[in-house]
Amino acid sequence: MQLIKGTTKLLGVIGHPVEHSQSPKMHNAAIASLGLDYIYLPFPVQPKDLEDAIAGFRAIGVVGFSITIPHKQAIIPLLSEVSDIAQAVGAVNTVKNTAGGWIGTNTDVEGFITPLFAYNRDWSQTEAVILGNGGAARAVVAGCAKLGCASIHVVGRNRENLNGFQQSWSNSPLAINNLHIHLWEELPNLISQADLLVNTTPVGMSPKVDQSPVDTDVMARLKKDAIAYDLIYTPRPTKFLQQAKTQGAIAIDGLEMLVQQGAIALKFWLDKEPPVDVMRQAIQ
Ligand code: NAP
Repeated sequence: MQLIKGTTKLLGVIGHPVEHSQSPKMHNAAIASLGLDYIYLPFPVQPKDLEDAIAGFRAIGVVGFSITIPHKQAIIPLLSEVSDIAQAVGAVNTVKNTAGGWIGTNTDVEGFITPLFAYNRDWSQTEAVILGNGGAARAVVAGCAKLGCASIHVVGRNRENLNGFQQSWSNSPLAINNLHIHLWEELPNLISQADLLVNTTPVGMSPKVDQSPVDTDVMARLKKDAIAYDLIYTPRPTKFLQQAKTQGAIAIDGLEMLVQQGAIALKFWLDKEPPVDVMRQAIQ
């Protein structure tokens, strides 16, 4: 463990709640491994206190921080600059203090894509099917667009929310014109086209580990060489990934995305190569 001194610089994560966050473990392991005079702390911040918290962070010279639920959208008007990718996603998960003010970005998109690069695929021929249309689904859609997927299908349970989700991409800097929306009733037909099937719903997350967003008989229609990707990282694997593996598909869980988005954030703050293996080991 590093020694906190008068010179120690501050990084952290804000959220409400924030107690469950794995980020302090991961970032403090990286800081120790790099031998840096920094510390990364959790800051529970209620929505009503967000503006005061950010002003306080500026006053005490916090170098940068991560943002988790429920502040990923609310932080945007409080920043001086927002990266193109964060604008496209409509959410900021990483902020850096600069002379000109706070700069925000979104590292979930690269975090989502990076584990996929381990597989040699022609992404331009890939049909992506994304389950859920919440915050994480936005980063996944942006990731699929960056990969150049042939089509991006989003499955949700509320037609109005789905329409709003699709509409929100119409003025996006990513110019997504191959996004299709579907209700869950359409999944049994849609799933057989999927080359990449991504679960962005919380269904199957600990403690409800016996649940899956996809019925076993529907999963039986998944192609044998498809990639099934679950953003959930507890448990490992989820029931969704177990079903997909039984089908012969490749399974990717959410841990690597968590590690990679954190590594990209650390590089954004410190401009140093992050020790990804150390970060992975810290939360495995
Ligand atoms: P969110 O904004 O609340 O979105 C959740 C989505 O799942 C919504 O579209 C919701 O539908 C849908 N959903 C919830 N319960 C459902 C159910 N029983 N059946 C069908 N759909 C359901 O949450 P989020 O921030 O996107 O996070 C989603 C998951 O991703 C969480 O498990 C989170 O831990 C994980 N995540 C992982 C990483 C990582 O780095 N690995 C990063 C971000 C998130 P409605 O819109 O109809 O409510």
